Amino acid sequence: RAVVERILCQRSSQMRDQQRAWQESPDGRKILEFRSSLPAYKEKEAILSAISRNQVLIISGETGCGKTTQVPQFILESETELLRGAGCNIICTQPRRIAAISVSERVASERGEKLGETVGYKVRLEGMRGRDTHLLFCTTGILLRRLLDDKNLKGITHIIVDEIHERGINEDFLLVVLKDLLACKPELKLILMSATLDAELFSSYFNSASTMKIPGFTYPVRTHFLEDILEMSGYRLTPDNQFDDYGQERIWKMNKQMPRKRKSQLSSSVEDVLRAADFNYYSLQTRESLSCWNPDCIGFNLIEYILCNICEDERPGSILVFMIGWEDINALKEKLLTHPVLSDPNRVLLLMCHGSMDSLEQRLMFEEPEAGVRKIVLATNIAETSITINDIVFVIDCGKAKESSYDALNNTRCLLPTWISKVSVQQRKGRAGRVQPGECYHLYPRCVYDSFTEHQLPEILRMPLQSLCLQIKSLKLGSISEFLSRALQSPEILAVQNAIEYLKTIGALDKNENLTILGRQLTVLPMEPKLGKMLIFGVIFNCLDPILTIVAGLSVRDPFLTPLDKKDLAQAAKSQFSHDYSDHLAIVRAYDSWKDAEIDNAGHDYCWKNFLSPQSMKVIDALRVEFLSLLKDIGLVDGNMSSCNAWSYDMYLIRAAICYGLYPGICSVVHKDNSFSLKTMEDGKVLLHSNSVNARETTIPYPWLVFNEKIKVNSVFLRDSTAVPDSVVLLFGGRISKGDTDCHLKMSGGYLEFFVKPAVADMYQSIRKDLDKLIHS
Ligand code: ADP
Ligand code: MG
Repeated sequence: RAVVERILCQRSSQMRDQQRAWQESPDGRKILEFRSSLPAYKEKEAILSAISRNQVLIISGETGCGKTTQVPQFILESETELLRGAGCNIICTQPRRIAAISVSERVASERGEKLGETVGYKVRLEGMRGRDTHLLFCTTGILLRRLLDDKNLKGITHIIVDEIHERGINEDFLLVVLKDLLACKPELKLILMSATLDAELFSSYFNSASTMKIPGFTYPVRTHFLEDILEMSGYRLTPDNQFDDYGQERIWKMNKQMPRKRKSQLSSSVEDVLRAADFNYYSLQTRESLSCWNPDCIGFNLIEYILCNICEDERPGSILVFMIGWEDINALKEKLLTHPVLSDPNRVLLLMCHGSMDSLEQRLMFEEPEAGVRKIVLATNIAETSITINDIVFVIDCGKAKESSYDALNNTRCLLPTWISKVSVQQRKGRAGRVQPGECYHLYPRCVYDSFTEHQLPEILRMPLQSLCLQIKSLKLGSISEFLSRALQSPEILAVQNAIEYLKTIGALDKNENLTILGRQLTVLPMEPKLGKMLIFGVIFNCLDPILTIVAGLSVRDPFLTPLDKKDLAQAAKSQFSHDYSDHLAIVRAYDSWKDAEIDNAGHDYCWKNFLSPQSMKVIDALRVEFLSLLKDIGLVDGNMSSCNAWSYDMYLIRAAICYGLYPGICSVVHKDNSFSLKTMEDGKVLLHSNSVNARETTIPYPWLVFNEKIKVNSVFLRDSTAVPDSVVLLFGGRISKGDTDCHLKMSGGYLEFFVKPAVADMYQSIRKDLDKLIHS
């Protein structure tokens, strides 16, 4: 032990010498100068001393002040922290993989090192670290996974949980686990960091832990709400008080042409205004009426107008546009590329910033553009706090973000663009004032801003809890309800009950809420339990190859692209993959054809012609390999994949696997006249999403559709579905009971129950018992 300690000590002193040499080199000096200009650097000594005095420290500071890149480095460089034991090992978690990668690259380069030396990263499917890595950036999910094998986080001296203000479900869960761990590991330090922080909430959660605020400095940013923007272009937006008989709600009137619309909620009247603003601007410019208005893409023309104004009249400086999601970023980009000024590469560098951008895009984003070229970055809310682009002077804020929520009463997930919180607005605005005074354009009137909530609801209160419950069980953290009652904010009881009930239905938990053998396998697989179940079925029934593709395909963004203006062409392209009344099998067919094309190096072309996302295809490819190796690790598959190809494409088995995984996500198909409707267990009305292959059929050859999830947008939709026959549902879905008539069915309380004649029931039950034994063994 003494020898090991000595070697480690030698190595850390070597590392320190290297650092000193780097900091004295010309490049190193330049970087050090930049680092010392950051507000966090000025607090270095105070931060380090607070860390050494406290087990838990909460640090807040304006975005871009240097928390993420500097605080871990301070610890790494500090003599006292290095002398603790054999050196320090820091884990810094990030809510998003792209942030973990980009930050680790930055920190390594600030230290004049290659990634994978002292600084490394680990995210799903990717990682880079070596034996000298003492600072690891990873996603929160990776740390939770590590806790499975290494409950005490052996050797880890510091845990930094970053971006804590986002209140992701994983972060909230991690905090409960860490709180227990801190009590039995007094030498472990926990540092929570955030841009805007309800410091009190976190401090009192960790027994009045110390808090620290890094004083920030930003230049003033001028705010322009919609009315100001319109006024700039010669319009006036005024409250129309004639309509005030509905209470405080106000209708906004924009010049005389504005159509007087029905008054519903504030937000929709504002959307009318935006629509009108768009309409007016558009018709003013082109004398054409706006034939296609897409309500999901609020204010495209307005954005184009503002961008154009800035490019033509304003001082230099980059522009950051906050959009709702990847789809509208893409759509806006396509639109801007048809504009004479904005598409001119000598004047504009147009970039997209979202969760799956590649590293070239990332690098371009941080670099200064050539002289005379203006950088425009179209971003999701990832650019709100995780990623700081230095030279932004102008911000355009659409005011919305996609928020997923969970309706426990109807057991439905909702994914809706919603207005952001006031805190987010401040964040977005602040991005404009980092290098000089800035301008922020909000695409909504001030009165809408006034109606925003202060903070967003934490994820744990608005997400389904199945995976979380399974994790609680696998980490042996006791009773699910008791554990969740100790969270920062506890979820609704009904949401917890639904999750437990679901886990019992799929056989992951037994009656007493203990993990079954199946449940234990599912905890090792890094995907939703239903998808894990599907994989296990694929192994047992020798149809793993297509199931791997389906499970990987469901874990990525929709691989089928539907550009707004080429919807028909895209759907025609998709129809060549959809002969099976199954969206899941369409993924398999698309992937297999892409893979064939890849052999001739023509994969990209193939995607382009067939409206497939090449990025998604590559991720599916990588995930298949990862899942297969995990199945090997837990001993479900032997090394030789070809041995399980025998019945690979037996359609009956594949449908069975899909049903086995997705049940109780099932609805019955009711044919009437020349069409069909769907009836769910809850007897609610559901529709097929227009992108589903089944939405274009008039009849379905089987009486059931199984689906991944119901999503409430305005109505309740099923996104991906697969038609399955009765016998599959009898064997792998609903319960079987003895009845006296031939066969009848009950759908209630979330279950399907078939009543069949006693002899038939006996037969099916005995087959099912054998199948269960097989699956649970
Ligand atoms: P915080 O975590 O407080 O928001 P960061 O530590 O992420 O701040 O960033 C500090 C500074 O380092 C910012 O000014 C940012 O622009 C700069 N920076 C961060 N990452 C990069 C990068 N990859 N390339 C260039 N500059 C970067
Ligand atoms: Mg940060």
